[in-house]
Amino acid sequence: MADGQLREASLGGEPEPEPEPVVRSWQEGVDLCSGIYQHLKEYVPPVLCSGSEAKPAEENRAYQKLLQTLEWYLFGETPADGFAKLEQSNSSSQLCGRVFKGGEATYSCRDCAIDPTCVLCVDCFQNSVHKNHRYKMNSSYGGGFCDCGDVEAWKTGPACKMHEHGASEDSANSASQLPVGLAERAQQLFTIIFRYIIDMLIWTEDKELPLGLQPREKTDSYFCVLFNDEQHSFEHVIHSLQRSLGCSQREAQSHTTLIDREGRRAVKHGTLQSCQETKLDVINITNSVFQSPLRVEILHSSVVSHQNFALRLLSWLSQVVSNSAGLRQIFCEVVLNQEPESDQPCLSSRLMLADAKLWKGARKAFHELIVCSLLMETEYKRLFAIEFITHYKQLQLEFVDDDHDRNVSVTAQSVQIFTVPTLARHLIEEHDALKIIIETIIELFSEHMDNGKLHFQSYSQDKLSRKQMVLYDLKYVLISKPPLWTDKLRERFLEGFKTFLKLLKTMQNMEPMSRQIGQHLEIEPEWEPAFAIQVLLKCILSMIQEWCASDEQVLLQAYKECHRVLSQCTNECSQRDARKQLNMLNMCGHSISLKRYLVSREPVSIHLPLSRLLAGLHVHLNKSGAIDKLEEYVPSSDFQVEKLMDYPLRCLVLMAQVSADMWRRNGFSLVNQAFCYRKVKWREEMFDKDIIMLQIAASMMDPNRFLMFLLSRFELFEVFSKSPVPRNKDVIQQTNVLVEELLHLIIIVVGERYVPGVGHVKKDDVTLREVIHLLCIEPMPHSELAQSLPENENNETGLENVIHQVATFKKPGLSGHGVYELKPEYLKHFNLFFYHYYKSQQTKAEDEQKKRKKQSNSNEALPPPLPPPFYSTFVKVTNILNCDVLMLILRTVLQRAVDSTGRLWSEAMIQKTLHLICMALQEEQRQLEGEEDVNFDVYLKATRVGSSAVNAESILSLLEKLRCVPQLDAQKDMIIWTLQMFEAVKKLREKSSPCSATEAASQKTHETTQDEDKAERKRKAEAAKLYRQKIMAQMSAMQKNFIESNKHLYEKATEAPKQETVRTEVDSITNAEDPGVALGPMQGATAAEKIILICILCQEEQEVKTDEMAMVLAACVQRSTALSKSRSRTITNLGDDCDPLIMHPDLGCGTHVGSCGHVMHASCWQKYFEAVQNSTRNRLHAELPFDLETGEFLCPLCKALCNTVLPVIPQQAHNLDSKDTETVAQILTLSRWLQNVVTRIIGLNASDSKENESKLMQASPTSWKDAVEFRSILSFGVQSPIKYSKSIVEMLQLFATAVFRVGLKVAPNEADSRVPLMAWNACAFTIQSIENILNDEDKVLFGSLPDRQGLSLKAVLQFAASQRMVASPKVIQKHLSRLMSVFLPHLDVEDTWSILDIDFFHLLVSLVLAFPSLYWEETVELQPSDISCAFNNLYLFHLVTMAHIVQILLTSTTDCPMEQDGEESEESQSAAELYEVLREYTSRSLEYKPHGCYLWNCVKCGIFPFLRCSALFFNYLLGVPPPEELSKDSSEGQFEALCLYLALPTNLFKLFQEHQDIVSPLLQRWCSDSSVQSFLKGERTTVQYPRERNQLMELPEDYSCILNQGSQYKCSRSSDDETKNLALCMFCGAMLCSESQCCREEVNGEEIGACVAHAINCGSGLGMFLRIRECQVLLLAGKNRGCFIPAPYLDDYGETDQLLRRGNPLHLCTERYKKLERLWQQHRILEEITRSQDMNQVVIGLEWQQF
Ligand SMILES: [Zn+2]
Ligand SMILES: [Zn+2]
Ligand SMILES: [Zn+2]
Ligand SMILES: [Zn+2]
Ligand SMILES: [Zn+2]
Ligand SMILES: [Zn+2]
Ligand SMILES: [Zn+2]
Repeated sequence: MADGQLREASLGGEPEPEPEPVVRSWQEGVDLCSGIYQHLKEYVPPVLCSGSEAKPAEENRAYQKLLQTLEWYLFGETPADGFAKLEQSNSSSQLCGRVFKGGEATYSCRDCAIDPTCVLCVDCFQNSVHKNHRYKMNSSYGGGFCDCGDVEAWKTGPACKMHEHGASEDSANSASQLPVGLAERAQQLFTIIFRYIIDMLIWTEDKELPLGLQPREKTDSYFCVLFNDEQHSFEHVIHSLQRSLGCSQREAQSHTTLIDREGRRAVKHGTLQSCQETKLDVINITNSVFQSPLRVEILHSSVVSHQNFALRLLSWLSQVVSNSAGLRQIFCEVVLNQEPESDQPCLSSRLMLADAKLWKGARKAFHELIVCSLLMETEYKRLFAIEFITHYKQLQLEFVDDDHDRNVSVTAQSVQIFTVPTLARHLIEEHDALKIIIETIIELFSEHMDNGKLHFQSYSQDKLSRKQMVLYDLKYVLISKPPLWTDKLRERFLEGFKTFLKLLKTMQNMEPMSRQIGQHLEIEPEWEPAFAIQVLLKCILSMIQEWCASDEQVLLQAYKECHRVLSQCTNECSQRDARKQLNMLNMCGHSISLKRYLVSREPVSIHLPLSRLLAGLHVHLNKSGAIDKLEEYVPSSDFQVEKLMDYPLRCLVLMAQVSADMWRRNGFSLVNQAFCYRKVKWREEMFDKDIIMLQIAASMMDPNRFLMFLLSRFELFEVFSKSPVPRNKDVIQQTNVLVEELLHLIIIVVGERYVPGVGHVKKDDVTLREVIHLLCIEPMPHSELAQSLPENENNETGLENVIHQVATFKKPGLSGHGVYELKPEYLKHFNLFFYHYYKSQQTKAEDEQKKRKKQSNSNEALPPPLPPPFYSTFVKVTNILNCDVLMLILRTVLQRAVDSTGRLWSEAMIQKTLHLICMALQEEQRQLEGEEDVNFDVYLKATRVGSSAVNAESILSLLEKLRCVPQLDAQKDMIIWTLQMFEAVKKLREKSSPCSATEAASQKTHETTQDEDKAERKRKAEAAKLYRQKIMAQMSAMQKNFIESNKHLYEKATEAPKQETVRTEVDSITNAEDPGVALGPMQGATAAEKIILICILCQEEQEVKTDEMAMVLAACVQRSTALSKSRSRTITNLGDDCDPLIMHPDLGCGTHVGSCGHVMHASCWQKYFEAVQNSTRNRLHAELPFDLETGEFLCPLCKALCNTVLPVIPQQAHNLDSKDTETVAQILTLSRWLQNVVTRIIGLNASDSKENESKLMQASPTSWKDAVEFRSILSFGVQSPIKYSKSIVEMLQLFATAVFRVGLKVAPNEADSRVPLMAWNACAFTIQSIENILNDEDKVLFGSLPDRQGLSLKAVLQFAASQRMVASPKVIQKHLSRLMSVFLPHLDVEDTWSILDIDFFHLLVSLVLAFPSLYWEETVELQPSDISCAFNNLYLFHLVTMAHIVQILLTSTTDCPMEQDGEESEESQSAAELYEVLREYTSRSLEYKPHGCYLWNCVKCGIFPFLRCSALFFNYLLGVPPPEELSKDSSEGQFEALCLYLALPTNLFKLFQEHQDIVSPLLQRWCSDSSVQSFLKGERTTVQYPRERNQLMELPEDYSCILNQGSQYKCSRSSDDETKNLALCMFCGAMLCSESQCCREEVNGEEIGACVAHAINCGSGLGMFLRIRECQVLLLAGKNRGCFIPAPYLDDYGETDQLLRRGNPLHLCTERYKKLERLWQQHRILEEITRSQDMNQVVIGLEWQQF
C-alpha cells in the first residue's frame, strides 16, 4: 500500500514547466523570494527519495531540472551560454586550491614551508622550485587543499610555474567586472537559496515544513530515516537492519554503506504508523546494555525531499562559485553579511553553529563550499576567520559532544585559518584569539577539576582526544612569531599569557603521588592523560617562550607574571607545611635552615609546568641580557630561589628514589612516568627544565648551602655527616644508589651547559652533541637518530645540519638499513655521564668506548670532555666543584672504598667521584692557564687532610690507595688519569708561566705513563686478561641472542660446513675420459650411490638403502603459477574432473616440491609429528602458523613450513656391457623399437579388454598369433626390479598422496589412478622451475645448486621414478599408452592432443618414467635391463625432441620474416629444408619462408630451456656425470655440451633426416591437426618459445608516482571517492581495493577481501601485493595466512618507510625488488609468511581473509 501511494505521489506531481516562463513569472512577481519558494514547494516534494536502486538517477534528473530554472534566472539566458561567458571573463587564480582526495600524494618542503601543514599537489610540486629541496611526501586523508600560490605558506617559491602568473591584484574586485544585472541577480538568488538551505537543513520539527513551503494537502507519506553514528560497527548495523526491516543482506549492506558515507538514509517509506513501527523495531533490536540504540527519525516525505534538494543546492553553489571569482565574492558577501535589523549571526555562522547537529553528507557539502568560496578569497577568509573565532568556544564545546570524526566537523577548518601567520596574528591582536582558545581549553577541562587542580580519573578517551584538538589550534596560532610588536599586540598577548598561566596553575603539582609502604598500590592511577597533554603542551610552551623572547618588554612582563603565579602556587602549597619547624643543618662549618620535607613520605608531583616555564624564561632573560632589568620587575627580595628550586628538586629526588627501587610498590604507572619524564618527547619541558632550575639556584646560592639542600632532599644528609651505622642490606643498597644519583645530579648541574643561554652554544651545537652521544652507543640508522632527537614545532630535529659533519654513512645490504657511524675525531666529546642517556644506553656506550680504546691500545680512561663556558650569570655554578661540602662528599666516598670493609660504596659511585674530581681539576687548570682570577684551589683542598673527621686522609692519598683496590681494576686507567691531572695542576701551580706549565703537564703525563707501565705491567696484563674474558662472555651471550632472534639467517650461514651430514659418494666411477653421455648406447657407467645421512631428530647416522628404514626430507608441496603467463588456468586445473595427463605449454598451474633439505628417520618424524599434533590440539584457540588438518608442520630444525615428507632413495648403478650394447644397437633401430612398442601396447590393451581371452592365451601361448611380437620387447634385456622396504613404500605413498591432494586440491586417495601422473608432473615442474631460477641468476646448470637442494631434487626424481613400482602397473600402462598416442597414431585411444597444447618436457618425464611398465608381465615382475633402458630413453627423448622442434618452428617463427645475412651453415640449410616440408604439410598455411639461418636460431633459442631441463632430469635420474662445460661459467659451448650429454647431433635436424621413414607420417599428422591450422590462420594464440619469463610488475623509480597512480585509480565497483586501501598485484598489475566493502567477493559461500579472492587465481592462493598507501608488501597464502614486509623502496638514508610515517622521498631499490621476485620464483612466499608469523606473533591475529 505504501508503494502505491508513492507512485501516486510522484505521478500526481505535474512535470515541471520549461524554465524560461517560470523565470519570467518570478521577475514579474512582487517578491522574488516567495516566487521561488512557491516554485520549490510545488516541484520539490514530488521528487521522492526512496530506498530502491533505480531511483537516484531519476531523482537526479528532476533536481537537475530545478537547478536549471535557477541558472536561467541567474544568467538571464541559457545556462550553458552563461557559464561559458563566465569562464571567459574569469582570469586564472593565483591560488591552486585543489582539494585532495584520500590517498592523493601531497608534498611539503622542509626548507621553505612555514609549517608542515603547508602542502602542494603533485602538479604544483612538479612545477615548483621545491622539488629540488628537501621535501616530504605523504598520502592525504582527504579534505585539505593545495597551498600553491599562498604567499604566507612558503618562505620562498610560493607559487609553481602554473600559478605564479595568476592575477592576484585585479581579482580583489572581480565582482564589479561581472556583466550588468548578473551581480544583482546573483546577490538576490544566493541570499534566498542559502536561507532556504539553512531553513531546510537545520529544520528540527521533524514532521512539519516551514511556512511558505507547506504543501496544499498533507499526505500520509513518511520516511523512516536512519542516522550514522561512530558507535555501532558495520556488521552490527547490517545485522540489525536485516532483522528489523526484514530485508536481504545485500540490501542491508547497501543501506549501511550509504549511512556510513552520507550520514543518513531513508530505510523505509510508508504511512506514519508503519514507519513508527519500524522505528520501534530498530530501536528495540539495537538497544543493548553496552550501546545506545541507533538514531532513527520519522520525517514527512516532503521534508526529506526539501532536505535532499538543499543538499544538492550546496554542491550546486560550490560549482557555481568555483567558476567565477566575481560570483564567489558576491556569495561570500551574502553569507558573511550581518543583517542589520536582525540579532542573528550571519548566514554562514548560522549554518556553522548547526554543524554538529547536521548529518555527515550535509556537513561535507557545507565544508566543501567553505573551502571553495570563503577560504579562496583573502579578505573574506579574514572575515570568516573572525566569525570562526567569535563562535570558537561554542563550536568546540559542541564538537566534544559530537560523535563524528573530526574531519567531518567544521572545527577542522581551524588549520586553514590559524596557520596563516598574518591572519593568526590579526586574530590575536584584534579578536583576542589567544585568550579565547585558552579559555576554551580551561572550560573543556573544567569537568576534570578537583580542588583547583586537574585530575583525570575515569575519563573518556574519545572525549579527551577531542578536547586535545584545541591544543593543536593553540599551537597553530603560535606557529609564527610576530616580526613586529605593537602595543596592542603586546597587551593582547600578555592577556592571553595570563590566561595560559591560569591553565598551567591547574596543572602545577597536579596528581601528586605518595610512596606506598608495606603493600602494593591497589589501583594504578591514570597517568597517561596528563602526559598526553604534556606532549602537546611541550610545543606550545616552547613557542610561547619564543614569542616572549622576541620582545624584551613582553619577556620581562611575562616573567613577572609567571613568577607571581608560581610564588602564589608555592605559597598555597607551603601553607600546608606552615606548622613545620625550620631545621638547622650544619656541615663543614656551613649551615642552612630549611623545613623538613621527605619525598619518601610526603606527596610529590611530576607536573610542574609553571616552574619549568619560569626556568625557560629565565634562560631567555639571560640570553637577551634583559636579566639586568629584572630587578625592576621582580625585586630580589621577592625572589626566593630556594623555594623555586624546591619542587623541581623533589621531582628529581623522586626519580632517584625510583631508580633506587624505593617506589616499587607504586606499580608500573610510576615506572612509566619516570621513563616519560626523561623521554625525548617530553624531557625538554620536564627533566631538562628542572635541571635548568637547579642551575639557576646554584648560580645564585652559596655552593655549600646548595649542596646541603640537595643532601637534605635526597635524605642523605646523615650518610655524610655521621659515621655509618650498620644497617640491613636493602637499605645500604638503596642508599648507595641514591648517592650515585646525587653524584650524577651534581655532575649534570655543573657540567651540562648545552642550552643556548646557559652555556655559550648554538642550536646546532646542541644537536651535534646529542648526535655524537647517540652514535657513541652504536652506529644508527637515520630514523632512529631522528626519533631520539627532540623535534621543534615543525617536526624538525636539525639532524641534517650536523650529521654529515660528525658521521659517515654506511649503505645497507639486501635487508636491514643504512647506518651512520661516528667519525673518530668526535669521540673525544664523549661524556660518560651525558644527561640524556638512560642507564642501559650509558652502559652500552661505556662498553663500546672502552672496547674501542682497547682496540687502539690506548688507555681506557673515559675522562670528562671540556664543557663550553657558562653564560656569565651562570658562572658561579662551577663553584660547587670547589666547595667544602663537595670535598667532604668526595672524600667520604673514597675513604669508604679504601676501607672497603663495609658495602657502603659501589664502583659506579667511584666512577662518578673520579669524574667530578677531574671536572674540578679541569676547571682549576683552565683558570690557571687563563687570564682571569684564579679562585679555585681544588688541588690544595684535595691534598689537605680532611677537616671534619680527625683521621681523614687527603683525597690525593686516598686515590693512590684506591689503585690497589682489586674491585676497581676496571677503573684503574681512570684513577691513573686523575692522578696525572693532579700532577699537571701541581706543575701549573709551581710554574708561573702558564705556557710552559702545559708543556710540563703533558711531559709529565708521558713520564708517568712510562713509570706506570713498568710497575704495573704484570697487573695490567692480568686485568686485560680478565677484561677479555668478560668481553668474550658478553660476546658469546650476545651472539646467542642474535642466533635466537635471527635463527633462519644463522642456519643458512652455518649450514654449509655442517653439510658433512650429506655425504654422497659418486667419485669412484667418474672417469675423466668418459664422454659424458646420459642416453643410448654410449651411456656412461655409474656406480650405486652411497648416501649417509644424519637424522636431525635423533642425531644418528644411517646409510640410506632401499631395503632399510626410510630416511625422509621435510618437504612442502604447493600449487604454483610462478612459471605461467596465463594464470587463469588455476581454476580449471584442479578438482575431481581434472585430467592431469598432459600439461599445457603455458604451465598454467604446476605442482612444486620444495624442501629445506633436513633429513629425519621416517619413524623419528612420525613420532615428532604425532607429538606436535597432540600438544597443539590440546591448546584451545592456539594460533598456529600452520594448519594441522592438512598435515602441516614446521621443520624441527629450521622451522620452515612443510606439509609432507619425501623419502630419500639412492640412485642405482648402471653399467652397459659394451658387446651386448653393440649387438642391440645394430638390431634395434628407432623404427624397430617403435614397432615393438606398438605391438606391446596393442597387445596389452587387447589382453586388458579381453581378460578371459588373455588368460586363455597364457594357457596355450602358441595359439596367440602375435605372441612372439608381443613379447619381443622383452628380448632386448630385462631384469628384476629393486625391492623397497615396507617403510620406504609407505613413505612413497604418503608423499604421492600429498602431491596428489595438494596438486589437484582434492581429497586424498592413494588408489586414484591420477596419483602417478601427479608425481611425474610435480617432478617435471620442479625441474622446470629450478632451471628457470638458475637461468635467471645466470648460474651454471650443474654445480651451483646447494647440496641440500640437490639432495631433494634427486629425491623427487627417484620418488617419481618409483611410482611404477608402487602404483598398479596396469594403471601406469594405461597412462603410458595414452601418452604414447602423441607419437603412435595406430593406438586405439580416444583422446588426441594438438602438438600446440603439449608441454614436451612434462611429456618426456612422464614417458621416461612410465615406460618400464611395458615390461610388466602378470606372472613375473620384470623391468628393462640397463641396456634396454638406455635405448628406451634415447628413443623417447629423440621423439619428444623432434616434436618440440616442430612445435617451435610452427609457433615461434611467425613474427620475424626479415631476411638476414647469416652464414649459410649446414644447420640453417637443414632448417630451411625441414621448414619447407612443414609448409608442404600445412598446405602452405605457413606463408612466408624465413631465412634458414633465422630458423636455426629460433630453434636453438627455443629448445635451449628444454635441453637444459632434460639434462637435469637425466642427470638426477641416472647419475651420469655431465661434460665439464656444463659446470663452467661461460655461455660458450653450452649447446654443444648439452647435445653431447643428451646424445643429440649438434645439427638437430639430422634427427629428422635419419628417421625420415618414421617422421614423415608424424609430421603430416601433427601439421594437419585442426588446432594447428586454426593457429596458422590466426584464429587462436599459443605459447611461443623460449617461453617468456615471469617477472614482477615493473615499479616506478619514484614512489610518489605510485601514490599518484593510486589516487587517480577509480574503482568501477564503487560510486564514492572515499579513501581506499589500494593494493597492486605484483604478479599481474591488477589494482584492487583491499579491506574494502566494494570489492569483496563471495567464494564458496564466504565473503573474502579483494586481494585474497584475486590471489586464488592469480597465484593459486599465493599473493604478493603492494599496498600503496602503506608502502608495504602484503604476502598472502590462502585465506588464513599473510604477512607484511616493507616495500622495496628506500629513502636517501637507506631505510624503508612502512606506513609512510616519515615521508622522505623514496626510490626503488632494484636489489630488494629482485629479492621479492626471487621469493616468488623460488616458491618461498609461503615460507616467508610462516617465518614472519613465527617471529611476530601479532600478525597471526589479523583476519587475512578481509584483505
Ligand atoms: Zn596545486
Ligand atoms: Zn601551483
Ligand atoms: Zn622549498
Ligand atoms: Zn632419527
Ligand atoms: Zn629444515
Ligand atoms: Zn594478479
Ligand atoms: Zn573497489
